[in-house]
Amino acid sequence: MRGLKLVSRDYQRENTVVKVGSAAVGSGQKMFMAGPCAVESLGQITGIAEQIKDYTHILRGGAYKPRTSPYSFQGLEEEGLGFLRDAGRAAGLPVVTEVVAPEDVDLVGSYADLLQIGARNMHNYPLLKRVGSQAKPVLLKRGFGATLEELLFSAEYILAFGNSQVILCERGIRTFNKHTSSTLDLGAVPVLQQLTHLPVIVDPSHGTGRWDLVQPLALAALAAGADGLMIEVHDQPEKALSDGPQALKPEKYKTLIKTARRLVQCLGGWEQ
Ligand code: PEP
Ligand code: MN
Repeated sequence: MRGLKLVSRDYQRENTVVKVGSAAVGSGQKMFMAGPCAVESLGQITGIAEQIKDYTHILRGGAYKPRTSPYSFQGLEEEGLGFLRDAGRAAGLPVVTEVVAPEDVDLVGSYADLLQIGARNMHNYPLLKRVGSQAKPVLLKRGFGATLEELLFSAEYILAFGNSQVILCERGIRTFNKHTSSTLDLGAVPVLQQLTHLPVIVDPSHGTGRWDLVQPLALAALAAGADGLMIEVHDQPEKALSDGPQALKPEKYKTLIKTARRLVQCLGGWEQ
């Protein structure tokens, strides 16, 4: 792709492996990131982490929530970061959380092992430059109106500012379809893997907005070659402060991961 440099396969043939605490994304072993959309309390995040820790490599939970409505729950901010870090420590898992503003990057980086740039901020160039200028790895989600070229150029910003530890995430794009909140573009996975050496994961939770579609699309994403998954899990989805309709209960999530492991074995060649 014209103009892309550091992220391109031509620049670096071998896959980049991104280390996140004890986890390594892009190593060949499938990595599972899971947890609630938002950190709601210490008890909530600790309880969910405890239930899913044996099936999860990285614990997720938003403390700064970029919500469509200003009247929706905005996240617990620094208090939530502390709850997430403590839950991760108790479960023995590294943690990922979203950062929405350049001035928050140092604070969020002092709690998190992996910094998430959300779909709404994929084009936020000051934020990309800021996460590029620090050492924590970055999970960059595709904007819902972004081409793959635009996603790769956003990643290029982060690498150009000095941080080569970037994971890409396909999370669905806007189309005319009305049966899901987004249309998960699974073709993006092999295309990105041709174009870039960076690992690619898939988020079927935001990609569908429906818990009953998460498992089939998670399995399809692995079959398409994704390096891992990001899945929203909540112990009481009906009471969740955000994204309840797409959250899997811990038991359903565990079934998904058990099935995913069997699928990966069938596909062969990948370590479990
Ligand atoms: C999230 O991960 O909770 C989130 C807000 O995702 P996205 O930026 O993909 O909408
Ligand atoms: Mn969410």
